[in-house]
Amino acid sequence: MLASVLIGVLSMGTSLQPAIAAARPVGGQAPGYYRMHVGRFEVTALLDGTHPFPSDKVAVNAKPGEVDALLAAQYLPPAFEGMINAFLVNTGDRLVLIDTGAGNLYGKEGGGLVSAIRAAGYTPDQIDDIFITHLHEDHAGGLLLDGKPVFAKAIVHVSKRDADFWLNDANQANVDDLLKPFFPAIQQVVAPYIAAGRFKPFEGGAPLLPGLTPIAAPGHTPGHTFYLLQDEGQSLLFWGDTVHMQPVQFADPNIAIRYDWNADMAVATRQAILARASAEHWWVAGAHISFPGIGHVVADNGHYRWVPANYTLNRIMP
Ligand SMILES: [Zn+2]
Repeated sequence: MLASVLIGVLSMGTSLQPAIAAARPVGGQAPGYYRMHVGRFEVTALLDGTHPFPSDKVAVNAKPGEVDALLAAQYLPPAFEGMINAFLVNTGDRLVLIDTGAGNLYGKEGGGLVSAIRAAGYTPDQIDDIFITHLHEDHAGGLLLDGKPVFAKAIVHVSKRDADFWLNDANQANVDDLLKPFFPAIQQVVAPYIAAGRFKPFEGGAPLLPGLTPIAAPGHTPGHTFYLLQDEGQSLLFWGDTVHMQPVQFADPNIAIRYDWNADMAVATRQAILARASAEHWWVAGAHISFPGIGHVVADNGHYRWVPANYTLNRIMP
């Protein structure tokens, strides 16, 4: 058999190429969802999209060459591909979405959330509650898609501090130019939900649902909020935009970005939650960590490391 194959190949001489049927590259990726459990709760990570993150243009507090060196150490260019993740939680009683991705606000680089929800076996109109970590375009933009509200019955929850800030144009005067366009964009995506009476800002740290507790995390935005999910002794922290640049900010949490409302406060909040999440051994789910964005934080000699969840096809069914 081998001999006859060899003779066949040799007999084709140098013109091997035309004799081999070439399959066209298909392109695309697998549907963007990943499942795990926290106690009795089912958590599904959803990929809204990826986009080149211009770390060389937006990093703040970095030493000269530091960001490029940290990226190069992970074989990444300065504008590396960043994630936009959101997360679905099925508590058994309610279907809950943490953040909504960018919708149309990042062009073709966002807006995959709805197809990810469907690929994961759910539909947007099943979602009861949406908890927004903060009112930036890549977290609230997905409330609308192609100008239409995506979620037919969901109540949108966000900290009152963030709502008061982003829904008031007077605050445009006090933010980086990068953030000024966020005001009209955010006001547009929340408008139909406000009109329908389904936009409910909250205050304080009391649980918003059994097992879901908000934690004020100001700095990136005034009302930036973590959500801590806990059941049967297990904990998962949805930490929103604690880390934008995974290859950079675990190694040096003092590096901030121009998208921060208050960079010093954002750094202090990041340092505190990195220390706490690592000490408590919590699962962490991040909006801009490599998909699925779920893993653990490990303290490492004054720095931190990210340990991603190990992929599994087992133990994911109830
Ligand atoms: Zn973000």
